Amino acid sequence: MSIIRVALDLPLPQLFDYLAPDASTEDIGYRVSVPFGRNERIGIILDWLDASDQPVDKLKSATVILRDMPRLPDTWLRLCEFCSRYYQAPIGEVTSFALPPMLRRGKLPKLPRAKKIKPDKIKPEPISATVLPTVAIDICAEHAPSHRPPLLMAQQEAVRQIIQADTFQTFLLHGVTGSGKTEVYLHAIAAALVRGEQALMLVPEIALTPQLEGRVRTRFPQANLVVANSSVSDAARARGFLEALASTADIVLGTRLAVFTPMPRLRLIIVDEEHDASFKQQDGVRYSARDLAIWRAHQHNCPIVLGSATPSLESFHHANAGRYRLLALPDRAVAEAPPVVRAVDTRREKLQEGLSAALITAIKQRLARGEQSLVFLNRRGYAPVLACAACGWISRCQHCAANMVVHLADKHLRCHHCGGACAIPHACPDCGNIDIHPFGRGTQRVEAALIEQFPNARVLRVDRDSANNPKKWQTLLASIHAGEVDILIGTQMLAKGHDFPKLTLVGAISADTALFAADFRAPERLFSQLMQVGGRSGRANLPGEVLIQTEHPTHPLYQALIDHDYARFAQSQLDERKTAGFPPFTFQAMLRAESPAMGDTVAFLMQAREAAEQVALHIIGHPVTLFDPVPMRLHRLMAQERAQLLVESNNRPALQHFLAAWHPALHALKRHRKVRWHVDVDPLEF
Ligand SMILES: [Zn+2]
Ligand SMILES: [Zn+2]
Repeated sequence: MSIIRVALDLPLPQLFDYLAPDASTEDIGYRVSVPFGRNERIGIILDWLDASDQPVDKLKSATVILRDMPRLPDTWLRLCEFCSRYYQAPIGEVTSFALPPMLRRGKLPKLPRAKKIKPDKIKPEPISATVLPTVAIDICAEHAPSHRPPLLMAQQEAVRQIIQADTFQTFLLHGVTGSGKTEVYLHAIAAALVRGEQALMLVPEIALTPQLEGRVRTRFPQANLVVANSSVSDAARARGFLEALASTADIVLGTRLAVFTPMPRLRLIIVDEEHDASFKQQDGVRYSARDLAIWRAHQHNCPIVLGSATPSLESFHHANAGRYRLLALPDRAVAEAPPVVRAVDTRREKLQEGLSAALITAIKQRLARGEQSLVFLNRRGYAPVLACAACGWISRCQHCAANMVVHLADKHLRCHHCGGACAIPHACPDCGNIDIHPFGRGTQRVEAALIEQFPNARVLRVDRDSANNPKKWQTLLASIHAGEVDILIGTQMLAKGHDFPKLTLVGAISADTALFAADFRAPERLFSQLMQVGGRSGRANLPGEVLIQTEHPTHPLYQALIDHDYARFAQSQLDERKTAGFPPFTFQAMLRAESPAMGDTVAFLMQAREAAEQVALHIIGHPVTLFDPVPMRLHRLMAQERAQLLVESNNRPALQHFLAAWHPALHALKRHRKVRWHVDVDPLEF
């Protein structure tokens, strides 16, 4: 008998056996076309057997093994298996998701790009680790524009440690904006290229700009760079994947999905902005690309560098405990001094459309000096809600437990959760009162206020409405760089990975809302956002200033920002989390369910909890804590009533052991046919 075991893209945890007379163990890792139901499906061969545990007459025959693409290597298959096991996702969904869409459909890209000749790739003799730093620095220097400053001591030391690590080691590269993290990455990549190795660099979606790609390309003109993100065309993504697989790609630069790129010579992984929530996928296979990248580095026995100005508390905790090696870049390599951060006490002030007198004065000074200002408000739209004072009507979304946001630019009410929209009513839909008003403040409203306050200034709004596709975003960035803008108003889109040399003032309005949010991660995110957005100011030897408008000027979070003391903030947060028993001191998984009726949703979760109690009894050693099902904060989304059940343990293997037993039990539960559910391991959103 010759039987292949195939992973198919189905929401089922098992593999599927097919007869394949011409197959052998050599075919593991090939794509295969098989009949399934009435259709033909593409899967991946994960195993070959000489007997099946199913009756042979029930087995169908595989249609054709697609040997036209190189086999997916064992390391890649094991990465997918780990991802499936750890995140409780069906293996077929993972292997399918991990392939570029074109390859997933059983196709191959046309016109493979001609292979480049790389004369410096293979070095005949090994270079000793002690000379490598200089070699790496020289290689970069060859192509260096003359104005690039030399590496500072701390950068040199970081580069030295990374390129001397010849086994698995997680480095946490902690440095503020402008401290030169990217230079450290580029030097480490240079060293890998000298040794004929492949490097993988992951960045958050919004940070992957043509500028960064251009910088890497300019630095390594000899190297074959593959870019992998969701806006790369299908064919280009498939080509890049195959080049990496064939080892002809030297550098893979991409967003979270790039973590699945097969790279036989992989010897260096970089995760920039490692704290960024976009590394965790929030639907389908709910994996963390950062955490999978660490697993991959372990698998390839190579170093991995996690870089951030505000590391995630998880990573900072690991560095404190000595599991990660901390590389600190204390200085700003580019600007002369860090920005001056001040809290503007707004308790006794009547704000003008949300703007304090101090902020208005500071903007005026920038206008007079021909410098740029940025007003940061993490809420798009004109106002978060439209309301009728006569009867109390507010603009709620029909499908979600959320308000419709007023968008004055196109005169619509929009739900930011389901995307639903309608024209702004002229009168209250309930009582007919025509005196209805927007309440609260979003970027559009502040934009209007800035235009009124500074009629001669050029004001530009940057948020997901004004930059809703990569092209518009590039156009906006270009006009900022060209100095065609005096005042920017924007959301966190503006905070990430862009250098605006003429920007010297950042004003944060409405930051307080995150201080007392129910989500225990809100302060961590707020600190990181303010630090990041503040880091935009004061580059190129123009001193920067950050003004935070607040009613809590003595709050420890703001005080830590004023002192540029991430470590103090992080430590106080870790102390709080330890007391409260939150991650990283505990490990969590969330079972979420939804259906049109909350009763059905909760009934399913109650059943799941009963099953969990049975399973938890058998977990010996470390207890697993089961919480009661509760409605989610956004308890209705797109007409689905949503609730969740939290499971946690202070021991990761115990939680994994529990999940492995619980997950099949969940599949076996009888449930209302409209209930949908998923498990989210290490959830970021509550
Ligand atoms: Zn009314
Ligand atoms: Zn909605």
